[in-house]
Amino acid sequence: MFNYLRNAGFDKFVAECVRRISAASLQYGGLDPRHVSSFAVEVEGIMTSCASNLPSGTNHLTTNVTCAESVGREYLICFQCGKSFKTLKRHLREKHNMTPAQYRRRWGLQADYPIVTESYSRKRSRIAKEVGLGKGRK
Ligand SMILES: [Zn+2]
Repeated sequence: MFNYLRNAGFDKFVAECVRRISAASLQYGGLDPRHVSSFAVEVEGIMTSCASNLPSGTNHLTTNVTCAESVGREYLICFQCGKSFKTLKRHLREKHNMTPAQYRRRWGLQADYPIVTESYSRKRSRIAKEVGLGKGRK
């Protein structure tokens, strides 16, 4: 369905989006609490139909901003809490008591879904070279 989210994770992903959109609309958008359930159904319908109406081969575009943005060069967004980080590994362990593998499974992410941003891993490898790691020193 998405670049990184397989179909198995899509329902969960939609449910989470609907929950967040509804909460944000209640809090900031002036949504009447009496209409929240019909609003949620509408949002879910829109998301699901957007995803299923795309011609095959362009599925990755459905990502909607949310998933595309979850992997920025400078940050990654945690699907559990929506916050952004340079590296998710420590955050997942400390805040959600999860390993990267559990996180990927929970959200239907592929095994190569990045847990560390590109810029962060580049910086780490540069530092490692500067301090002489990987030169076979003992
Ligand atoms: Zn989180």
